[in-house]
Amino acid sequence: AIEVRDLYKRFGPLEVLKGVSLSASQGDVIALIGGSGSGKSTFLRCINMLELPTAGSVTIHGETIEMKQDGHGGLMPANRRQIQRIRTKLGMVFQSFNLWQHMTVLQNVIEVPVHVLGQPKDQAIAVAETLLRRVGLYEKRDAYPAFLSGGQQQRAAIARALAIQPLVMLFDEPTSALDPELVGEVLSVIGDLARENRTMILVTHEMKFARQVASHVIYLHGGVIEEQGPPEAIFENPQSERLKKFISSIH
Ligand code: ATP
Ligand code: MG
Repeated sequence: AIEVRDLYKRFGPLEVLKGVSLSASQGDVIALIGGSGSGKSTFLRCINMLELPTAGSVTIHGETIEMKQDGHGGLMPANRRQIQRIRTKLGMVFQSFNLWQHMTVLQNVIEVPVHVLGQPKDQAIAVAETLLRRVGLYEKRDAYPAFLSGGQQQRAAIARALAIQPLVMLFDEPTSALDPELVGEVLSVIGDLARENRTMILVTHEMKFARQVASHVIYLHGGVIEEQGPPEAIFENPQSERLKKFISSIH
């Protein structure tokens, strides 16, 4: 479903990603773990081209995003329309929810389907209501984000990401901004998605959860993959000293 090859990203003098590759088949749940500043968010943002990689390639469902040299040692999109189209196949959920504050929950969920994808409004509403039921927010569909708890906002953001029928879901620390008592309700929604055979890449500090839902775990350190493998191997039998330390530090 998704293939990332040898991704590099530099911000000025700072090389943040130094050749990161990943490949996920339909239904794979890849957990991306690593310390602060290791490049996890940058990697996710490069996948949906919110950030332009300096080098490397991203292929979604067999379609490689076309890039060309920008003349400054980096890459730029060769085809903006292709990037826009591919972005609509990636559902992104951020740490800080990023709901549109001036729109109700329902309006948030139907915004892209109606105004970007051109779906008929009544059809988009029907899909949105189904999704809101699934994340347990149907009763809150006419509420504005400011009146929701963090956990509710994040579940609304997940419904919004699902509404575009993404091929891949990208989660960037979806529970780290939440009060501890709200983490469970969001993890439970993400866990359901994982069991539904969705392809997901999940940046998380919830090691227990990663252990449960991931099919593959990647440990990033300093912009390179220091170790990767099935969750049992990564969490119970880590090889690198750094990963051992990281895992014991986070419990
Ligand atoms: P965290 O766990 O704290 O979220 P992370 O692994 O997601 O960390 P990134 O946000 O990818 O790390 O950042 C990696 C490095 O890149 C950091 O040193 C950060 O300061 C730097 N960085 C990220 N975005 C930019 C930017 N737009 N301009 C300059 N430097 C950036
Ligand atoms: Mg981050």
